[in-house]
Parts: sequence; C-alpha cells; structure tokens
Amino acid sequence: MAIATVNPFTGQTEQEFEPHTDAEVEERIAQADAAFRQLRSTTFAQRAEWMRRAADILEEDVEQLARIITIEMGRPIAGARAEVLKCAKGLRFYADNAEEFLAPEPLDDPAKVNASKAGTRYAPLGVVLAVMPWNYPLWQVLRFAGPALMAGNTGLLKHASNVPQAAIYLDTLFERAGFPAGALRTLLIPASRVEKVLRDPRVKATTLTGSEPAGRSLASIAGSEVKHVVLELGGSDPFIVMPSADLDKAVSVAVTARNQNNGQSCIAAKRFIVHSDVYDAFVEKFTEQVAALKVGDPLEETTDIGPLATESGRDELEQQVADAVAKGAHVRTGGTVPDRPGWFYEPTVLENVTPEMRLYLEEAFGPVASVYRVADRDEALALANSTTFGLSSAVWTNDADEEEWFAENLDAGAVFINGMTASYPELPFGGIKDSGVGRELAAAGIREFCNLKTVWKG
Ligand code: NAP
Repeated sequence: MAIATVNPFTGQTEQEFEPHTDAEVEERIAQADAAFRQLRSTTFAQRAEWMRRAADILEEDVEQLARIITIEMGRPIAGARAEVLKCAKGLRFYADNAEEFLAPEPLDDPAKVNASKAGTRYAPLGVVLAVMPWNYPLWQVLRFAGPALMAGNTGLLKHASNVPQAAIYLDTLFERAGFPAGALRTLLIPASRVEKVLRDPRVKATTLTGSEPAGRSLASIAGSEVKHVVLELGGSDPFIVMPSADLDKAVSVAVTARNQNNGQSCIAAKRFIVHSDVYDAFVEKFTEQVAALKVGDPLEETTDIGPLATESGRDELEQQVADAVAKGAHVRTGGTVPDRPGWFYEPTVLENVTPEMRLYLEEAFGPVASVYRVADRDEALALANSTTFGLSSAVWTNDADEEEWFAENLDAGAVFINGMTASYPELPFGGIKDSGVGRELAAAGIREFCNLKTVWKG
C-alpha cells in the first residue's frame, strides 16, 4: 500500500509520501536510542512538565489536527476534534499520575526474605516499536506514547500507511514540547519493513493496535526475539439488553455505540443480543434511529456518518452483508452502497443472522449492526461468548443479580453496565482471546513497558 493521504470522501489521492530509506530508518532508530539514554535520567517532574506542554500544543493545534484526521480517514469533524482533546486529557493524566504508578514498593517485612531491605521498583525498557492503525490516528498513538515517555522509554512509530500526515505531526510533537529529539520518531515504512526494525537489538519491546493477522505476525517475530509485546486487536462486542433495562436509553446508546467513528471502532457494539420480551420494541426504535442518521461530508459539523476510511474496508463490509443476505438475513434498514463518490456504506440493521454467515463470527468494521433474539440470560451469555473475540461488552439491566452474573461470566476485557464501552485514561483497556494481550491506560498501561526490578539488600 502506498504511503499516501487518500481522501475517503472523494476517493482522490491528496498527497503521496516517499517511504524512508534504510539509511533514514537507521538514523531514526539511533535517535530514539540516544533519546532513551537522555530521558531515563530525567525526573518525573521534568517529564511531566514536557508532557503537559505536549497537551497544550495539541489543544492549540486542535483545528489543524481535526482536519487532518477527517481528510485522511473520514471521521466526522466534531468527533475528530473530540479525539484531539481527549488526547490532551490522556497526556495530562499521565503527567499527573506516572510517578505514583511507578513508585517503588518496599516489602513490609524484609526479614522474611533474609534482607534488611527489599522491594520492587519500575525501570524503563528502552526503545519501544509501536505499530498503529488509522481508526483513531492520534488517540491510539498517544495512549501508548504518553505513558511510555513518562516511564522514561522512547518510541518508534510505524503508523498506518493511510494516515501519513498524522504520523508526521506526531514525529515532532514531543520534541516541540521539550522532550529530547527522538523521544517519538515516525518511520514512514510499509508493513513489510516492520520485521527488520523489530529485530534490531536497540528495540526492546513492541505494541500493535490493529487486525488479528497483523498482531499474530508481529507477536511471532517478537516471540522469536524474546521481546515483550502488547496487542490491541479486533472485537465484536456484544450489547445485551434484558427486560428490566431502560429501553429508550439502551436504544439511543446502541445507535452511538455501533455507529461512532463511522462504525470503525474496535470497541463498537457490533452484536445486539436482545431478550425476546423487549426484542420487537428495541428493534423498531433502533432501526428508526439508525435510519435517521445523517450520512454525508465529514467536514460538515452536523454529519453523523462519513465514508469508511478505505475502499477495501468498504468492499469487505459490503461482501459480509451480501453473504448474510444471501443466506437469509433480513435487512431492516440500509444494506447498500449509496450511489455517490467516496467510500460510503449505509448504516445498516440486520436480523436473522445465523452461525453459517460470516457476520456471525467476523468483526464488522463499519456501520452494520446484527440483532439477535434470545429467550433468557443463559442464551444471551452463550451467544455473547461464542466468538473468538473478547474485547469489551455491554449489558443493559436493572436487576442487581443479573448485573453481577454478567459481570462475572462475560468473557471480555471489560463489562460496561447500562452505558457505552469507552476508553478512559483512568481505567485499564484491553482484550482477551483473539482481541489481544496486555493492557493499556491506567496504572497497568504504564507498567507494561517497564522492567519490574526486584532489589534486595542483606
Ligand atoms: P491493520 O491492517 O492490522 O493495520 C494496523 C497497523 O498494522 C498498520 O500500521 C499496518 O500498516 C500494520 N500492519 C499490517 N500488517 C502488518 C504486519 N503483517 N506486520 C506488521 N505490521 C502490520 O489494521 P486496520 O485494518 O488498519 O485496523 C483495523 C483493525 O484494528 C480492526 O480489527 C480493529 O478492531 C482493530 N483495532 C483494535 C483496537 C484495540 O484497541 N483493540 C483499536 C483500534 C483498532 P499498513 O497500514 O502499512 O498496512
């Protein structure tokens, strides 16, 4: 894939970028490595000051950045702006909390280990290679980079090939804020050149947010190099609605949960599992609100749904729906590619999705919702847990026993009760099963790329 900005609203290539040569990649790895040696000896207070400045810069640049996001991957401009501001908040969160999250932990009773003093401390690992997707071009990168740099690590960013302007902006952000040059360096390279970078001895660990095949490939290379890996992969999150739920609220959140970011969110609710007592009412209201979403130019403030980010992504979604319809799924609304330029897909609601259809097991990365009818909570849980994914989940109920039962038994990295799955800097984020390994955000996220060092004194 060429490294280029291709506007998904028009389908036109706006700008192409030359990949970095091998010599340029070598120079950038060396810069990140040199920056690590400088950064590791700075104090938390110093890094926090720079991190807060980086947050300020993001806020100052919000309009420029929101436009880059919208032009490169089609996110409606209001959401793009919100993404930039969320990044600033995330960076400040780590500026405020990193020192406490990484504070040394002395053992209460060192005599038990024959020591006068013993405990643990966290040390940075070094250069971390981050392979990132286009769907939240700033947030995915900064939720890695904020904690990584606050811990004293540095980063190499291999961003998705269709968001080069975002990648180039990020290349200088931390330097502008005061961090040593090379604290986060962008590598403009195709996926095929990631392996060589990961095998470089100066690169100590890696993280990938993206698809399952990419994650498996990266993890197998990291495994052969015995390098730590964090994977944030796909999801097909269940959204369960039980009879006691506040139905109107569940419906309106369901519409947002499925269609945010044009349906291209790993933690979007994708499978709506509804108790038969409220099924008909849910589907009717849900369909009506999905059909009312405004599809159009993502640069317009009032647009709800813009184009999908890539032509291939749109074609894949079209094929998944065609497969389901050919095997008997019922289209309540949407189900078509509109006759207009750009890579649009109509917001869609499908019923009667069955196990032989691709959509039953695969992730739908676009505005397509599958709704399932279930008789009781056991059936809801079995269906929810039936995919290979385990990212997040949502349950709508006002029954305390049911709430606890789902929280305990859903196989997912998170359970949101009566609300929409979202990432918060304060809460760990990540999946199980084929949705990934490791955690980002909160204390768990900053500790992922640290050496948990035991120190014992006789
Ligand atoms: P993708 O094709 O896997 O691309 C993601 C990144 O990986 C890009 O930088 C890509 O580079 C690179 N890449 C692709 N194949 C690779 C390989 N074999 N080795 C090394 N790097 C490789 O994913 P996508 O389709 O752009 O993104 C959508 C997927 O990401 C969805 O499945 C979504 O659910 C998932 N996602 C997960 C999370 C989470 O937190 N769990 C968050 C957001 C998205 P090129 O662009 O150059 O190919």
